[in-house]
Amino acid sequence: MIAAVLHGSEDLRIEEVDRPTIEGPDEAIIRVEWAAICGTDVHAYEGRIPVKLPIVMGHEYSGEVIEVGQGVRGLGIGDKVVGLYGASCGSCEFCVSGRPQLCMRRLLFGLNINGSFAEYLRVPRAERTLVKVPEGMEMREAVLVPDMFQTALYSVETGGVGPGSRVLITGIGAIGLSILIAAKLAGASSVIAVDIRDRPLKLAKEMGADYIIDAREEGLVKRVREITDLGIDVAIDTSGAASVVKQAIEAVRPGGTHVQTGIVGKPVDLDLRYVTGLEKRILGVLCPASVEYLMRCLRIVNSFNLELHKLVTHELELREAKRALEIASKKIDDPIKVLLKIS
Ligand SMILES: [Zn+2]
Ligand SMILES: [Zn+2]
Repeated sequence: MIAAVLHGSEDLRIEEVDRPTIEGPDEAIIRVEWAAICGTDVHAYEGRIPVKLPIVMGHEYSGEVIEVGQGVRGLGIGDKVVGLYGASCGSCEFCVSGRPQLCMRRLLFGLNINGSFAEYLRVPRAERTLVKVPEGMEMREAVLVPDMFQTALYSVETGGVGPGSRVLITGIGAIGLSILIAAKLAGASSVIAVDIRDRPLKLAKEMGADYIIDAREEGLVKRVREITDLGIDVAIDTSGAASVVKQAIEAVRPGGTHVQTGIVGKPVDLDLRYVTGLEKRILGVLCPASVEYLMRCLRIVNSFNLELHKLVTHELELREAKRALEIASKKIDDPIKVLLKIS
């Protein structure tokens, strides 16, 4: 089969490799239909996070089950599925306490096991990893749920966004726009979107942001105070830029919450006296890793017809995976979400 194999920093090659086969009774093989590129792939491609090389890249996928191990219940050949970015063990203290994203024995597609930028994908611990796509939902839409929408909804829920909340989103990429969608769904009365690129700001406006701040032109904290008086109820950062994170936390009202969703590249210079004195809360979130949460997200996206596909700006073939990574990495032509059509 054809696969996009990472050999080193920015060294991604399209290769003919052996088609994966089931290696244990808890596994499944899927024929990948769509794969999506996200920030983690970009970090792996750029050599900024540890990766077990060489490896087939990719951890966002939708496809069809073509083989299941004897021990897998609830999944059958022909099922249309999406899956989590990794397979948690199910028995460590984090898995048992309902936070499998902290699992100490995770198998991570595209990082420590072969991933989804390939025609076929071997899925270990399939029952803990794969979920059937709701009837009628397109596979191109479904591929956007496991990472992008799950992370967004979890960020919004972790921040305690509810009816009437005022929400600040810094960094309007695919996750930022998904947070906008999820925040509105949760009842946020005003959402302020901050970025420094034209396309995301325009999209944010079209998708219902009440205010947009072009951080190239306006001071974030000052503008948020003008809009909200005392500061924002919930700030959610996806930019991961230390200077932006600092400002977002500063823009949070006394007693408010900052959610850190983007991975921050450098230490943030924070005066924690204000965090104590103003009872601000700072919380980190990862992408959730439970099939139950994924099922819930699929139901939400399907029943509210959230049209996540509007965030797709680029669609390429598997053979163009290198080009797709370059687009995402170097932000060529203002990408939001980049998809790979596999089969
Ligand atoms: Zn991802
Ligand atoms: Zn575990």
